[in-house]
Amino acid sequence: MSKNFYVTTPIYYVNGDPHVGSAYTTIAADVLARYKKSKGFDVFFLTGTDEHGQKVEEAAKMRELTPQAWTDSMAPRFIDMWKALDINYTDFIRTTEPRHKDAVKKILKTVHDKGDIYKGEYEGKYCVSCETFVPENQIVNGNHCPDCGKELRTVKEESYFFKMSKYQDALLDHIEKHPDFILPHSRKNEVVSFIKQGLQDLSISRNTFEWGIPI
Ligand SMILES: [Zn+2]
Repeated sequence: MSKNFYVTTPIYYVNGDPHVGSAYTTIAADVLARYKKSKGFDVFFLTGTDEHGQKVEEAAKMRELTPQAWTDSMAPRFIDMWKALDINYTDFIRTTEPRHKDAVKKILKTVHDKGDIYKGEYEGKYCVSCETFVPENQIVNGNHCPDCGKELRTVKEESYFFKMSKYQDALLDHIEKHPDFILPHSRKNEVVSFIKQGLQDLSISRNTFEWGIPI
């Protein structure tokens, strides 16, 4: 019986060209995939591009292109880069592909049918670059993003939320019962202490821009 091994890079945002950081994570994944293959594993190595969101919409607008035209011009830059570096991936996914959109809709429907999605209102500090809301206690330098350092915007919008808080205890329980679920253990401890601070429900929709998968 062959053993399966799955590895993925982050999927890269197409608001700019691939850079040394994208090369670093992709080469690391490629090395790991080749090693596992040499050990007889059946390897699936995924990479791809993350093509939705406000900063992609803005990057397209700046060049007077539609977001689709912009992402269509950007994805090959990544593909060419991995070719130049002889990256031996199994599949390259673009989030504008129908197969990705179908998977997202299926997952959301499953979660919705379980009663874990509700409509609420979100007001918070938003980083356009990272496409994430930043909690008050993580804001740095007055009004800046802790991850990328850029200035935050105050955003208030109606939003769908995933009831992540509901799963806090189940997650802790699972991690405790399966000590090797997160490796290395130093990372496991980080995750556990993050969860113990309390999981917030997660805003999973945006209505301040158009370029996304409609819910
Ligand atoms: Zn940021």
